[in-house]
Amino acid sequence: MKKLIHGLQEFRSRYVSTHQDLFEQLAHGQKPRVLFITCSDSRIAPNMLTNTDLGDLFVIRNAGNIVPPFGAANGGEGASIEYAIHALGIEQIVVCGHSHCGAMKGLLQIGKLEEQMPLVYDWLRHADATRRLVQENYSNYSGEELLEITIAENVLTQIENLKTYPVVRSRLYQKKLQIYGWVYYIETGEVLAFDPETHSYLPPQSQIPAHERDSSDLPFTVTTAPPVACELPQQPETETSVVAIPNGQPSYATNGNSHSVPAPTWIPPEQSARRVYRGNRANGKRRVR
Ligand code: ZN
Repeated sequence: MKKLIHGLQEFRSRYVSTHQDLFEQLAHGQKPRVLFITCSDSRIAPNMLTNTDLGDLFVIRNAGNIVPPFGAANGGEGASIEYAIHALGIEQIVVCGHSHCGAMKGLLQIGKLEEQMPLVYDWLRHADATRRLVQENYSNYSGEELLEITIAENVLTQIENLKTYPVVRSRLYQKKLQIYGWVYYIETGEVLAFDPETHSYLPPQSQIPAHERDSSDLPFTVTTAPPVACELPQQPETETSVVAIPNGQPSYATNGNSHSVPAPTWIPPEQSARRVYRGNRANGKRRVR
């Protein structure tokens, strides 16, 4: 506690005194640009890792950066999400998992928790889709690799849970909301961001459109953080062709005679649930530089 009280004094004398304008402005209200959902883990500091100021991030934190599906819990998460989007007009959400997540370790050994920590057990049920997906699709992984996969997949599960909220669904429909999946690596301070196009986690700069990048965004930082990659299993190599249908919209078939086109890049949900992890060694070569 002594450390905290000293910290309070330091904060006032060093930070508050040199940011008078910011505090004046914040006293009139908040206008955060991003809803940042992350784990309660003490090793994550959202403002510090994004180098943002007070007032920039609206933060929800809990064990495992979990978003209970709409209607599944009466906790503060749903209310905070609704408030962030409806009242504050936030248009960007980041769901940020992290390496060495204790909640995800617990999820992989959920049976042990039921007796010792019944509330944690109940809470982690909101990540049961992650647990089952990992169990059924990554059975040949274990230990650290399996944990890494679970962390990465859980971010995607929680993004799906977010989409069950009416306010989120409606804003997505209006194209007024963007949701990003990040994994923060405690050992290096690096973040990798989920890229829906390639179904893999990449340096976040790769998601800034080329014309919006400045010199500080390139080249992408290369660190020794363990790479995580989720991607679709290899599809059978059948060429698809366009078949005309009465309303003029093309449909895709594998046996038509008309000119061949690449298979559509749209991925149905049942396929996206079959993403495969490519492991550290296989993926080491293709890190973006
Ligand atoms: Zn955690």
